Amino acid sequence: MKILSVNSGSSSLKFKMYEMPEEKEIISGVFERIGENNSFYTIKLNGEKIEKKVELDNHEDAVKYLIEELIENKVIKSLEEIKGVGHRVVHGADKYASSVIITNDVIRDLEKFSDLAPLHNPANILGIKAFKKMIPNAVEVAVFDTAFHQTMKEENYLYAVPYEWYTNYGVRKYGFHGISHHYLTKRMMEILRKKDAKIITCHLGNGGSITAVCGGKCVDTSMGFTPNAGIIMGTRTGDIDGSIIPYMVEKTGKSLSEIINILNKNSGLLGISGVSNDSRDIEDGIANGNKRCALAQKMFVQSIVDYIARYYVKLNGVDAICFAGGIGEKSIKTRKEIIEKLAVLGIKLDEQANNVRGKEALITTSDSGIPCYVIPTNEELMIARDAFSFVK
Ligand code: AMP
Repeated sequence: MKILSVNSGSSSLKFKMYEMPEEKEIISGVFERIGENNSFYTIKLNGEKIEKKVELDNHEDAVKYLIEELIENKVIKSLEEIKGVGHRVVHGADKYASSVIITNDVIRDLEKFSDLAPLHNPANILGIKAFKKMIPNAVEVAVFDTAFHQTMKEENYLYAVPYEWYTNYGVRKYGFHGISHHYLTKRMMEILRKKDAKIITCHLGNGGSITAVCGGKCVDTSMGFTPNAGIIMGTRTGDIDGSIIPYMVEKTGKSLSEIINILNKNSGLLGISGVSNDSRDIEDGIANGNKRCALAQKMFVQSIVDYIARYYVKLNGVDAICFAGGIGEKSIKTRKEIIEKLAVLGIKLDEQANNVRGKEALITTSDSGIPCYVIPTNEELMIARDAFSFVK
C-alpha cells in the first residue's frame, strides 16, 4: 500500500512516498518557490534526480505535478493506489495528543491554532487542502509536532505568569519537534528493551530541542510556547529574559516585530559568531582561529549540557541519551564536547565510535555511566506510519 508523507511550508512542499507496511521509500522530492518566480521541483527516484522548472502558482499546482510524475514514472497506475497522506502539522495546541484523520472540523481547529503558529499552521493547511482536493479518496491524517509533548504535567508546562494567561489565552509550554522525539523514543526503547526507560532525546538541527522521556512519554521539553525557547539554535536565541525585548525596542527604535524577527532569525550561533548559523561554518571558523565562533560553540554546547543536567535530575537518573538532527547526527566535535562536559555523570566518550556521521551508533564506552547514541531521526517515516495506522 502506498502512503505519502508531506511537509508543507508557505512556499514549499516536501514529500516522500512509502510502500507500507514494508516502510520502503519509493520516491521523494520537494517543490520550491511556490507562488513565487522561478519555481521548480526536484524528485529522487531509483537513485536518479529529476529537476524541472515549472510554474507553481499554489500548492494545488505542486500536487498536480506530483501526481503527473508518479504516473509518468510508473510509481502508480492510478490515484486509487495512494491510500493515505500524512501531513506534518506544527501546532495541535492542547487538543490533539495524537494523530487524527483530517475532517473539516479538524481543519477549523488548525485554523484556530494559527494564532499560536502563524508561520506554520496556515502553510500546513494549504498543503492539506491541496491534497484533499487532488487526491480525494486518500485518508488525510494530521501528525502534530506538539502531540508527543501533551503528556507533560501542569507543573512542567506552565509558566509562572498569571494563571489566567493560560486559561484565557493558552500561554503555556507546548514543545515542538515532537515527531522526531517520538521516533527517537521508540527507537531507543527498542534498543534498551526497557518499558520504563528514562531517556533524554537531543534533536540538534538548525532548530534544536531536548526532551526528557520516561516510559515512552514526554516529561518535559526545552522548546516552549514557541520554538524560540530552550537551547541556543542556529538563528534562534533559546531561553532569554523577556525584558530584553521592550528594552531593545526602546533602545534601537525598531518595532516589536523587527526585534522578534532578530531573535528568531539573527540570533543563536549566527548572532554570537557573526559568521553563520551552520555548525560546519562555526567549526571551520574555530579551526581558523575565529574567537567569536569559538564563543558561539562554547555557549551552544553549554546550553545543551545545562538541559541534559536538568533532565537527569528531573528524571531521577537516565538510562540513555541520544543525539539526532543535522548537528546531532553529523557534528563529531559537538557531540564530543557535550559528552566530555557530562563526565561528572560518569559518561565516557568512545572517541573512535564517535567518529561517525549519519549512522546509528553507540558512542560511549562499555563502562560509561550512561550510554549515549547517535540515532538518525526519521520524521517522514513517523508521519507515514501514523497515516498508515488509520488506513490499514
Ligand atoms: P537539520 O535542521 O536537522 O537539517 O540540520 C541542519 C544543520 O546540521 C546545519 O545547519 C548544520 O549546522 C548541521 N550539519 C549538517 N551537516 C553537518 C556536518 N557534517 N558537521 C556539522 N554540522 C552539520
